[in-house]
Amino acid sequence: MKRYNFLLDIPSESKPDKTYSIKMDEQGNLTCPCPIWVFNRRGNRTCKHTDIVKRAGFNGSKGKFLVLVDVFRTKVPVYCKNYPELCDECELRFSCWTDEKPEFELGALRKAGVV
Ligand SMILES: [Zn+2]
Repeated sequence: MKRYNFLLDIPSESKPDKTYSIKMDEQGNLTCPCPIWVFNRRGNRTCKHTDIVKRAGFNGSKGKFLVLVDVFRTKVPVYCKNYPELCDECELRFSCWTDEKPEFELGALRKAGVV
């Protein structure tokens, strides 16, 4: 049986109270429960949600997704490449370690060197 690791929840654009949980299998393939991915409409097992994860630079081996809050109060997933090697020097580490879905202002992430 395939094992899937949870990566992050991405909010739906059309339904504000809905989120899609992006997971990754052991081969590093991303999965999404949205209709585009499930019915393979693009024909290559991708959707705009997996695009977001790939665009963020996620490489499948290490790192952690954090939730950035931009000036329009929109939540944007960002990929922290520093995790876990550089956590000791990162100013966000306490909230990042203790909260599964942390939310950070852009300024806080910049200050901590994440983005
Ligand atoms: Zn999707």
